[in-house]
Amino acid sequence: MSEHQLTSKNDASDGEHGDPVRSDFIRQIVRDDLADHRHTAIRTRFPPEPNGYLHIGHAKAICLNFGIAQEFAGVCNLRFDDTNPAREDPEYVAAIQDDVHWLGFEWAELRHASDYFEVFYRSALKLIEDGNAYVCDLTAEQVREYRGTLTEPGRDSPYRGRSVIENLDLFQRMRAGEFADGARTLRAKIDMASGNINMRDPAIYRIKHVAHQNTGDAWPIYPMYDYAHCLSDALEGITHSLCTLEFEDHRPLYDWCVDAVDLPNHPQLWKTLPAAGLKTRPEKPRQIEFSRLNIDYTVMSKRKLVAMVAEGLVEGWDDPRMPTLQGLRRRGYTPSSLRLLAERIGISKQNSLTDFSILENCLREDLDASAPRRLAVIDPLKLVLTNVPEGHVETLRFPNHPKNESLGTREVPFSREVWIERDDFMEVPPKGFHRLVPGGEVRLRGIGIVRCTDVIKDGERIIELRGTLDPDTRHGMPGADRKIKGTIHWVSAMHAIAAEIRLYDRLFNVPDPDDDSDGKTYRDHLNPDSRRVVTGYVEPAAAIVESETRLQFERLGYFVADRRDHRPNAPVFNRSVTLRDTWAAAMKIRLFTLPFLLALMGASCAPSPRSAAVDASSLVAQPTAPRTSPAPSMPATESDNPVAASPLKQIAADKVDYSCKINADCAVKNVGSCCGAYPACVNANSPTFPNQVKAQCAKDHRMGTCNYPVVHGCECVQGKCSNLTGISSGNSVR
Ligand code: ATP
Ligand code: MG
Repeated sequence: MSEHQLTSKNDASDGEHGDPVRSDFIRQIVRDDLADHRHTAIRTRFPPEPNGYLHIGHAKAICLNFGIAQEFAGVCNLRFDDTNPAREDPEYVAAIQDDVHWLGFEWAELRHASDYFEVFYRSALKLIEDGNAYVCDLTAEQVREYRGTLTEPGRDSPYRGRSVIENLDLFQRMRAGEFADGARTLRAKIDMASGNINMRDPAIYRIKHVAHQNTGDAWPIYPMYDYAHCLSDALEGITHSLCTLEFEDHRPLYDWCVDAVDLPNHPQLWKTLPAAGLKTRPEKPRQIEFSRLNIDYTVMSKRKLVAMVAEGLVEGWDDPRMPTLQGLRRRGYTPSSLRLLAERIGISKQNSLTDFSILENCLREDLDASAPRRLAVIDPLKLVLTNVPEGHVETLRFPNHPKNESLGTREVPFSREVWIERDDFMEVPPKGFHRLVPGGEVRLRGIGIVRCTDVIKDGERIIELRGTLDPDTRHGMPGADRKIKGTIHWVSAMHAIAAEIRLYDRLFNVPDPDDDSDGKTYRDHLNPDSRRVVTGYVEPAAAIVESETRLQFERLGYFVADRRDHRPNAPVFNRSVTLRDTWAAAMKIRLFTLPFLLALMGASCAPSPRSAAVDASSLVAQPTAPRTSPAPSMPATESDNPVAASPLKQIAADKVDYSCKINADCAVKNVGSCCGAYPACVNANSPTFPNQVKAQCAKDHRMGTCNYPVVHGCECVQGKCSNLTGISSGNSVR
């Protein structure tokens, strides 16, 4: 692939197709370097260690490295940093490649740090010859003792003064496999008194008699990460080596190794590479650090993710609750939603914790535009329409998407018996419940208005409803436009396909599961309700989809046909995300006082029947997520004819819970008070809303990015915040 070919299948913005040009401190550096002719072409790399599956934090690094290459007509390599064979596995190597492709990126070249083992070895010999490295016989424990502390300088190793000849001899014998693991190391000879501990003669080679996933038994010694990484960058001509903040203190060592080895001026060190078909263009790389992505209610450390899989706390690396890319994919996340997240959170040097809801909103936004709509019922209750003849079958044509006609239409069968959602009926409804009640009316989506005439029970449990369909409200009839408060979804019982529906939620029930200051570990904070499996019914057109098809089940959320288990004759759907942010609402509820909550239950913002049935005090006290998203009632449309549905009304239906009139108003005007179920309302209600936003934007902008436009409705225009007055902003951090 040529240097200037775009290296991504991604549709990310590049400024040439009407999308905004991205602006952050790293891109600014790249821009300046090109303007100053410091580089003629940009080369980046994504360098995972194949010791686990990639997670969403890696997605940020992938989008950054591949994104910059794409935006500046450069290239990005995928390089496996495989210098620690004990923890690495070919399974991870394959999964990482799969994940990068899935995210929408193509690497210019696939490399391994192990491709360069011979170069590293020769470079180490050069360091020894130049008096820049020595073989040290101290044990690991002794090395620690000699290293000193943050306040005290280290002491020279007794082996620091070995002659070049002795060092060369010992190092060559290390390479020949003469010594046991840990018996000796090769150390860079830098400065034991340095204020930076990383510079106090760090080890650059260790003895390890372990087979390597790429080089087999060829090497009994392996280079240390700090030595191998920078030289790999230099060999590939990486111009900007982007890494996370924890490497900031390692940067002097990075630069020291690059300068001391000086690959561009010593071709004898790397001349084997071009001969082996590896394009080599040594250049001095520049390391730039940015902050890691951390998301609340999530653990991101590979060590913990490995442990969770090994201990069976989750069902494997691709468990849909895992933050791994394989898990998110199985959960129904789209590559574009993850790229959107990367764009939204931006790049800065400020460590922060991103709200899980920002990730979820990215998916909602993506799927709202692209996911075909279907009807499904996840907690079924039968409704028999007694005035519809037995055996009557009708086929209706429904649009697949309210806004996007190109997604076409589908046939939806209707018959005398339908499944409706159990939540959509209440015998004793609270005020403001606009769904079905005894003797009451509701619109069946696309059918007409039905009245509930009988409630059939087995003891206390409702087992069936009987009702009648008002024929005058059917499509084309004079009463089709009759006003009615609620519209509910349904599935024809005769045609319904039983489906396994997996309702997923956050894996942890505390925002920071890594916090073990109270003696508890992340294992103690697993959310027991993070996975619930129910049997529901879906319309035939939902069942027949291929695995990994993403659908919106109307009023319920976005679902994906499971990548592994879904079959058209035995459908399995995973809930990707609810239609609204039920967590924001739950958090808000926890802040209410009990009397307020009780008052709320009687007010126009009626909670769902399920939450209304719960003891209100438990809602205040329980720190767990709501088990299901209360299904919003559909908008009270004047007409709900399947093919003639108003797109504008459907847009409103997607955005607003119409069971709450105040929410509807709030969402439109973004002012006033409301029950807080709609995120925009929560923000608008906060008395500190404008100040908080400004303060945070100011803070973020000094770091060259703004994390707040999504949540707080301010706008980030070329590094300046639209909500910000009188505060100098911009990309000042280099
Ligand atoms: P380990 O704990 O094994 O070091 P790691 O998460 O650092 O794991 P690597 O395979 O070393 O994983 O990471 C590959 C690249 O991804 C590195 O450049 C690293 O800085 C970046 N990266 C890792 N985690 C994150 C994160 N949470 N946010 C942004 N970038 C990340
Ligand atoms: Mg790492």
